[in-house]
Amino acid sequence: MNNTAPLIDPFARAIRYLRVSVTDRCDFRCTYCMAEHMTFLPKAELLSLEELDRLCSTFIGLGVTKLRVTGGEPLVRRGIMTFFEQMARHLQSGALEELTLTTNGSQLARYATALAELGVRRINVSLDTLEPAKFAAITRWGRLAQVLDGISAAKAAGMRVKINTVALKGFNEDELFPLIDWCAREGHDITFIEVMPMGEMGEESRLDQYWSLRDLRARLAQRFTLTDLPERSGGPARYIRLAETGQKIGFITPLTHNFCESCNRVRLTCTGELYMCLGQEDMADLRAPLRLHPDDSAPLEAAIRDAIARKPKGHDFDYGRQLAGTAPNAGAQGLIRGQMSRHMSHTGG
Ligand code: SAM
Ligand code: SF4
Repeated sequence: MNNTAPLIDPFARAIRYLRVSVTDRCDFRCTYCMAEHMTFLPKAELLSLEELDRLCSTFIGLGVTKLRVTGGEPLVRRGIMTFFEQMARHLQSGALEELTLTTNGSQLARYATALAELGVRRINVSLDTLEPAKFAAITRWGRLAQVLDGISAAKAAGMRVKINTVALKGFNEDELFPLIDWCAREGHDITFIEVMPMGEMGEESRLDQYWSLRDLRARLAQRFTLTDLPERSGGPARYIRLAETGQKIGFITPLTHNFCESCNRVRLTCTGELYMCLGQEDMADLRAPLRLHPDDSAPLEAAIRDAIARKPKGHDFDYGRQLAGTAPNAGAQGLIRGQMSRHMSHTGG
């Protein structure tokens, strides 16, 4: 494997972080993520676990040091622990610094110990509410108790848990403090995410769901003293600390801030498409060189380098200027610029 030249994009950003979606399927149907009756990809289109191993290992050979496994729901992919075992060998060799995943938590009670034993030290779990009825409504198919059990199992296995909460107008505004207090008690970090315009939603409107994190932050400031932290992860998150509790809170605000200048990541779908930017349509098909040349990694490496050479400067998400600084959900429709036709579960959130 050519390990000499790392992946550098046209804006001099070194690409060290790969997010890989191992399935587009999920056992939940979160209203902001999927339509209730989703059509999933035919199984034959998915990369096999062996192909995922080969692809991810090639990226690691090209300098990727952080791998996040996502989906769909990664833990519903059959045989997923085999894939984690395969990736763990790169942790053992030292080539990979971090192996992690983003999950809805539904299967964590089953897998947490094994994941921790393989070297997964941190895990992101999505959780938008602590009220069982609201949880059932937002996930359509999920059960809160199962997810809370999963989170407890992850904690008991020694993993650091970060809760990802999508800020949803009229849905979890009233749970801002309960969520923060619960995380403080449990010792979890929490990051809030603005709803992004990914995929068709049927009757749901993104503008009606959009709760600006600027507003969320202002509400936090009514109760806590906030300090901005200089910390950057090469991604969209910005962090603050609450002086009163010492908690670190993350904000992912693609719609109110531009975070692209330090972007060090690319995303691989479960069919082998490489998206160089979450908010752009351009992608490279890596499945073709992977399947055409099963015994020669040079064409695959060349395809990856070509793709990185096309990584754009940034995304174009924008909910429309008339929303800036105003009550952003005032029933406005149809002004979403940069809307992506693919769902988050396809690209991997
Ligand atoms: N199923 C796993 C989970 O829910 O954590 C992993 C995949 S999910 C697509 C990854 C993250 O994307 C979740 O935190 C979810 O809340 C977030 N997400 C999904 N659709 C979104 C949207 N339209 N805007 C913002 N975040 C979204
Ligand atoms: Fe599934 Fe995650 Fe999307 Fe919810 S956010 S439907 S859990 S993939």
